[in-house]
Amino acid sequence: MTRVFNFAAGPAVLPEPVLEQAAQEMLDWHGSGTSVMEMSHRGKEFISIAAAAETDLRELMAIPQNYKVLFLQGGATLQFAAVPMNLLRGAKCADYVNTGEWSKKAIKEAQRYCTVNVAASSEDRNFSYAPEQAGWKLNPDAAYVHYTSNETIGGVEFHWMPDTGSVPLVADMSSHILSRPMDVSKYALIYAGAQKNMGPAGLTVVIVRDDLIGNSLPATPSVLDYKAQAGADSMLNTPATYAVYIAGLVFQWLKRLGGLQQMEQINRAKAAVLYDFLDQTEFYYSPVARGDRSLMNVPFRLRNEALDEVFLKQAQARGLRELKGHRSVGGMRASIYNAMPLAGAKALVEFMREFQVSHG
Ligand SMILES: *Cc1c(COP(=O)(O)O)cnc(C)c1O
Repeated sequence: MTRVFNFAAGPAVLPEPVLEQAAQEMLDWHGSGTSVMEMSHRGKEFISIAAAAETDLRELMAIPQNYKVLFLQGGATLQFAAVPMNLLRGAKCADYVNTGEWSKKAIKEAQRYCTVNVAASSEDRNFSYAPEQAGWKLNPDAAYVHYTSNETIGGVEFHWMPDTGSVPLVADMSSHILSRPMDVSKYALIYAGAQKNMGPAGLTVVIVRDDLIGNSLPATPSVLDYKAQAGADSMLNTPATYAVYIAGLVFQWLKRLGGLQQMEQINRAKAAVLYDFLDQTEFYYSPVARGDRSLMNVPFRLRNEALDEVFLKQAQARGLRELKGHRSVGGMRASIYNAMPLAGAKALVEFMREFQVSHG
């Protein structure tokens, strides 16, 4: 068996010990005689799996008691609609910060439900930075402020927390949740698709302050209503049981590792391997402002774009996979989520150096 280094943006690499444990438990979970996939979501075995996953996530992120943790479906994309449906609460507008492809999609979807005020944008410099809070034009009547705390495609990460006063702050953390400690208490709502940094596709985690729920738009489907889902322990209908189980194993893996502070140190070391190299070569470059570079998604470019294809082909042959940048921006992108080992970042830089020598 050979495992490659998978730099995909999502679905993405998972920790090997998690995959091994899942393989061992595949046919017979803890003596139950069935796989988790075959269990009733209402049975005590699966309920214990889901409860443990929630407890471990609460512990890892230090989620305060007055927040609900929901295990939903539909991806972050469905949350683009669910957020306004639940959080407008009679208001007519919301503030959005536009920092790239995912922000744009969130804005477009929200516009179906309310007037969107784009409070700040980095479109002027091709979404290559996080706009400073001083320049944000927040609307005091906004129901909430939404931002994409890590733009997966552009590789732009907010390394600071916006201050929106009493206006609820909402973050799409899909591609950097659990990569480092975050102060959940400063947010009204955090959402994230699991397939970047938590587990398989099919699960979406929503963390929402409980005083904000219960006032959704009348046309909100019940599975999208946070209050209804919270009241049913996220089991208004059949949840993504296997995805919840795997995410639970990922949470346990993170706890064994020492939690999010430890994870952050590892992630910083990994990102430094790549960025330090990119900064000392003329052959490649990072298109992202230095202070706003993502620890999780590292876009980079070859100065000579004619070499892109051969670069990707040779990387592929070396077991360095999924380095092609998003189709909307081109170039390269290395996603180095929690489960990517330091050895993966080092192997990539070693290849990049050799490629430069033979093509520079
Ligand atoms: C991947 C991603 C999404 C979309 O997630 P889906 O689960 O495919 O809906 C939204 N926002 C960000 C920041 C992402 O990285």
